[in-house]
Amino acid sequence: MPACGKRPTPLPTLAMQYSYIPCLSIAGFDPSGGAGIAADIKTFSALGCYAAAAITAITSQSTRGVSAMQPVSAEWISRQVLPVIEDLRPIALKIGMTCNREIIRSIAGILRAHPFPFVVLDPVMISSSGHPLMEDDAMKCLADELLPLCHLVTPNLHELHALGGETDPILSARRLIQRYGARQILVKGGHREGLPTDILVSEMGETSFPGQRIATRNDHGTGCTLSAAIAAYVARGEMLPAAIEHAKDFVSKALEAGADIHIGDGHGPLNHFFGPLPLLVKEKL
Ligand code: PLP
Repeated sequence: MPACGKRPTPLPTLAMQYSYIPCLSIAGFDPSGGAGIAADIKTFSALGCYAAAAITAITSQSTRGVSAMQPVSAEWISRQVLPVIEDLRPIALKIGMTCNREIIRSIAGILRAHPFPFVVLDPVMISSSGHPLMEDDAMKCLADELLPLCHLVTPNLHELHALGGETDPILSARRLIQRYGARQILVKGGHREGLPTDILVSEMGETSFPGQRIATRNDHGTGCTLSAAIAAYVARGEMLPAAIEHAKDFVSKALEAGADIHIGDGHGPLNHFFGPLPLLVKEKL
C-alpha cells in the first residue's frame, strides 16, 4: 500500500475482456426453494450461466403448498431491475409470477426502455396446490401489455385457456398471436393425458417437442425450471428450437434425478444439480 494509504488503481488485465453469460429472472420468491426465483437461479447456475434475480412477490409456502403471497410495490420492481440491467446487461430474461397490474406495467415499461435480446414469460396464475398467484383483473393487462414484448410465452393448458379463451389450446395460442401480438407460444402438454408433448406455435406454423413422463412426486417448480432453462440455452447461443429441446431434456433429467429423494412432506423440488456445467466465460465484444 502506498504511503498516502490509497490503493493503487489496478492496471487493466486480460481477464477484464471476458465475461460470464448473465441471465435475469424477475419472479416470485418461494422460501422452500422449489419454485420461482430459487428454481430459476439453480437452473441458470446448473446450465453454466450467471444468475441475477429480482423479486415480484414473497410467498408463504412449503412442499405442502402455497398459503399466501405478498407482492412488492411496482416502484421496487424497477429499483431492483434497472441497476442490474444497466450494469450486468443480461442476455436473457425470464419473467415468472407477475401478481398484479402495477407489477406487469412496471415490467412492460422496463422492457420498452431496455429491450432484451431474449425474453421468455411463464404466465404463472395459480399454484399446483390451487392457490392464486395472480390477481383476477391482471390477466387482461398481462395479455395486452406484456405478451407482445416477449419472444416466447410458456403457458400450461389452464393458463392458455384463461388467456386465449378457447377450449382447443392451439386455437387459444393462435388467438394470443393474432389478437395480442404474442410472437411464439410454447403450449405445454404436461397436464394432458399420455406423453407430455409441447407444441411451439408461431405465425410460421407448429412444431412438436415430444417429452417423457417421469413418475415422481417431486415436481414443484417444473414450469419455472423449463422457462429458465430455455432462457439459459438461448443465452448460451442456441436457436430457440434447440433451446426448447435441450431445456425439456434438462427438466426430464432433473425430475428423474430427484425422484427418489424425500425432502418435505409434499411435492419436493427437482434435482437441478445432476450434472452442473461450469460457469461459461465468453470473450467480450
Ligand atoms: N411459488 C412461486 C414463487 C412460483 O413462481 C410458482 C410457479 O411458478 C409456484 C409457487 C407454484 O409452483 P407449482 O405449481 O410447481 O406448485
